[in-house]
Amino acid sequence: MDNCIFCKIAKGEIPSNKVYEDDDLLVFHDLEPQAPVHVLMIPKKHIPSLNGLMEEDQALAGKLLVKVKEVAELLGLENGYRLVVNCGEDGLQTVLHLHLHILGKRKMTWPPG
Ligand code: 5GP
Ligand code: ZN
Repeated sequence: MDNCIFCKIAKGEIPSNKVYEDDDLLVFHDLEPQAPVHVLMIPKKHIPSLNGLMEEDQALAGKLLVKVKEVAELLGLENGYRLVVNCGEDGLQTVLHLHLHILGKRKMTWPPG
């Protein structure tokens, strides 16, 4: 996607503070952190949202989820963390490229606002 900010970050066209990268995914610090640790995990493939995941993306979707604990360990989140995936307008998704928020190093509140 030509005009997608996270595609540009994935291609290195826009700088980001990277935490982890491999052939399929990238993890970088959020520009406006909502917790002491707040990173975004994205697939390098442009998928607009959770609703854009197709059958053919099962392995990639699984890889994203399985990677979370590794990234959490890398970031020292042994006390726990929150995983958030906003989807669509009501979910307050603002960037239309699938991303997982990993938030930690503070006690979260529940229910979310
Ligand atoms: P959403 O609301 O779509 O779930 O989350 C989008 C997230 O992307 C927000 O937390 C926002 O701060 C972050 N973000 C938006 N643009 C950029 C950017 O250019 N670089 C980084 N690192 N984060 C961004
Ligand atoms: Zn994209």
